[in-house]
This record gives sequence, structure tokens and C-alpha cells, in this order.
Amino acid sequence: MTEPPDPGAISARYQKVLGEIRVAEASAGRAVGSVTLVAVSKTFGAEAIRPVLAAGQRVFGENRVQEAMAKWPALKAEYPHTELHLIGPLQTNKAREAVRLFDVIETLDRPKLAHALAAAIEKEGRTPRLLIEVNLGAEAQKSGIAPGEIGALLDLARALNLSVQGLMCIPPQEDEPMRYFEELERLGAKYRLEKLSMGMSADFRAAIAAGATHVRIGSAIFGARH
Ligand SMILES: *Cc1c(COP(=O)(O)O)cnc(C)c1O
Repeated sequence: MTEPPDPGAISARYQKVLGEIRVAEASAGRAVGSVTLVAVSKTFGAEAIRPVLAAGQRVFGENRVQEAMAKWPALKAEYPHTELHLIGPLQTNKAREAVRLFDVIETLDRPKLAHALAAAIEKEGRTPRLLIEVNLGAEAQKSGIAPGEIGALLDLARALNLSVQGLMCIPPQEDEPMRYFEELERLGAKYRLEKLSMGMSADFRAAIAAGATHVRIGSAIFGARH
């Protein structure tokens, strides 16, 4: 949050991204409007987010619970139909705050977190929808569950009455992303999970071709992060 944001440039980039998503849907033979844009506003303040809200965007992604708590309650009061997605790793001791603020938590990735979310949902009386984050590149430094453990986590989630609707992935940066997107699509079909959150500023077209229902786009809209 260093340079003052340029609202005109942000709205223009937002419109451009929307157009590119529609083109990617059409060229993949998918229905126009079938892909939801999650505008990733991490590191950007309310002044940068407001032009995107004013342009009609209602789905946003944030990485950190604490950062989101500092800016989103006020913005959600201004734009009540905003849907907020948590797309960064969640510690169990922040589960309650996450359940209070977020409408979708995309990063369920371990049994301990499933238990913490179930307890938080019970206490808060709010039921965010959940996606399971899958670590497709088996990268030690990344969060996400191994593909082979999805079935057991889903069984646990169902036993805890959690509403798991899909899968999310962040492919390894150095690889060509398409095969990871296709792999997530296969896993979604295997477990009958409808939502697939995959694709970011650099690779959302490929993700849409592979079946993404949600693309998470930050820098192409808000500009470079510092
Ligand atoms: C930051 C982030 C994004 C957006 O990345 P851009 O390259 O800026 O579009 C998407 N998904 C996750 C999980 C992120 O942390």
C-alpha cells in the first residue's frame, strides 16, 4: 500500500480482465458467464478496491485473515452482497475469525482444520462454503493436501457437516500449468465436486480451457504488489 491507487487504471484493467475471461469461455466452448472472477485484493487498500466494487464486482479474495479483517467489514457494510473468499493458508487459531468474515474458505487442507472450522461454525452460526486446497506439485513449502488424501478429508468433512463444494490449486511456478489444471479437473470429477478454483493473472486462460469455475486474479486488475 505504497503508491496511491489510480482508480481509472484499476477500472480499465478490471474491464479488460472481464472481457478476456468471456473470450476464454467462448473459445473453450463454455457458456458465457460460467466462470466467476475472484478479484484478489490482498495488499491493496479500500481506495484501490472501491473502483472495482463500483464497477459491479462482488467476489473478492484475500490471503490473510488479519489483513481482511482490517478492511472488509467496512466495505461489506457499503456493499452488502459482497462475497469474500479466503485463498491463503488458515491457522486453526484463526478459524473463528475466518468463519465470521469469509463466505468461502478455499484452503481447507487438513483434518485438524476441518475440526476447527466445524467448531467455529457451530459457535458463530455462519456456514462458509469450503474448497479443499490440493498440493498437486507435492511442493514441501506449499500448503494443500496430497491428491491421495482428498477422499479421507472429504469423508471427515461430511461427518462434521461441512459444506465442501470444490477444489482449489496453485500449480508449481516453474512448470507449465495446464497439466495441473487438467489434474484438478479430473479430481473434481472423481469426487463429484463442482467448483474448481484455479488460474491466476498469468494463466487464467489455460485454467478456463481446463474447466475452472473460479479464477483468482490480482495483479492484472490491481497492478503489481510491493
Ligand atoms: C495472490 C494470489 C492470487 C492472485 O495472483 P495474481 O498473480 O496477482 O493474479 C491467486 N491465488 C492465490 C492463492 C494468491 O495468493
